[in-house]
Amino acid sequence: MRAEIVAVGTELLLGQIVNTNAQYLSRGLAELGIDVYYQTVVGDNEERLKQAIAIARGRADLIVFTGGLGPTMDDLTRDALAAYLGRGIEMHEPTLAKIEDMFSGRSAELIEINRRQAMLVAGATPLRNDTGLAVGNALTADGTHYLLLPGPPREMKPMFDNDGSAWLREKLGLADALHSVVLKFAGIGESALEELYIDLIRAQTDPTLATYAKEGEVALRVSTKAADAEAAARRMGPALQEIRSRGERYLYAEQDVGLETEVVRLLTEQRRTVALAESCTGGMVAAMLTTVPGSADAFLGGVVSYSNGVKRQLLGVPEALLEGEGAPGAVSEETARAMAEGALKAAGSDLAVSITGVAGPAASEGKPVGLVYLGIAQRGQPARAEKLQLSGDREGIRIRASKRALYLLWL
Ligand code: ATP
Ligand code: MG
Repeated sequence: MRAEIVAVGTELLLGQIVNTNAQYLSRGLAELGIDVYYQTVVGDNEERLKQAIAIARGRADLIVFTGGLGPTMDDLTRDALAAYLGRGIEMHEPTLAKIEDMFSGRSAELIEINRRQAMLVAGATPLRNDTGLAVGNALTADGTHYLLLPGPPREMKPMFDNDGSAWLREKLGLADALHSVVLKFAGIGESALEELYIDLIRAQTDPTLATYAKEGEVALRVSTKAADAEAAARRMGPALQEIRSRGERYLYAEQDVGLETEVVRLLTEQRRTVALAESCTGGMVAAMLTTVPGSADAFLGGVVSYSNGVKRQLLGVPEALLEGEGAPGAVSEETARAMAEGALKAAGSDLAVSITGVAGPAASEGKPVGLVYLGIAQRGQPARAEKLQLSGDREGIRIRASKRALYLLWL
């Protein structure tokens, strides 16, 4: 089963809206075990729409349209498909009744315009629209399956998830859907992760493994096609076990959650509290932690000590570390440790993490862009520091430094 998604709308071509429907449908079709080979975008133009249909027919068994089912003259999808197939248009009476009801008491003209939304390509199965007026269409002609869905995401999504998927399952006799588990890793880069599992990735047929990275975190997606979740779990079991045992130091969750969520969960479970002292990240770690509901149980607070003055006055970092002949400077192991100790003391927490570094674009204190020191202090123990040399732009360095700080808390 090869599928193509055809998103219809001139506003998509003009860049006025983002084609989020294509993403949603691709994911939904993948979950049904249907392979999407192409995504097309075409404007509100009947000729080009027919061309797009002709091309899609030649290379797909299922064509899923989104957009152009509305009441106005530029909503052409249904008409174009009917014309292409040489079929007529017929009225879907229940939808018409719904429209008349909705506009009762309003002008006859308004009802006339909106009647278009109750039309089906002749012979099509109607797809219920619980959040709007336009009825969806599902039909099979000359061996090709067609699904016509509205453009507004709040109408398209429930229609696809309910009647659309049900029709596909029945029509295509779908048994095996794609099941996947997302494993999240921290403290390891994407290429190192790939190396760790390279033999599994190379040998894979079922389940399949794929790595991807975003914002300082990496993930491994393990997927298999199976009739149900239980069968999928059985098939993925041995691979998952091998992945777990090799990646123990880095694997922090078996679902798509951010590291901050896991850190808050762990600290709360251990009844431990944390404070922060942030320089080059400017409060980013604090912002990440406080996105997690319930973080107040674990996170006490932090100091954004951007200047040397604040490092000295609020965190008690000794002057001799920061400035003067032979001082290690603000971006140094010694300062990172002193910042963490200062935050621990000021907040009275069990743990404290500090970050000081050069986010760029220019070097500072004669130190290179991307040089970052993290300090970690625990009550009753001498503080430790870690040196990182990160690459990327200012934002990337700040995000990766922040995620590394979270990783130290998770470890
Ligand atoms: P309407 O009844 O609103 O006219 P329609 O089915 O005719 O619905 P369009 O006219 O193509 O759909 O699009 C209506 C709106 O839906 C767009 O202005 C846009 O906000 C949203 N939309 C359309 N297509 C997409 C898409 N591919 N991705 C995300 N949003 C979309
Ligand atoms: Mg429209």
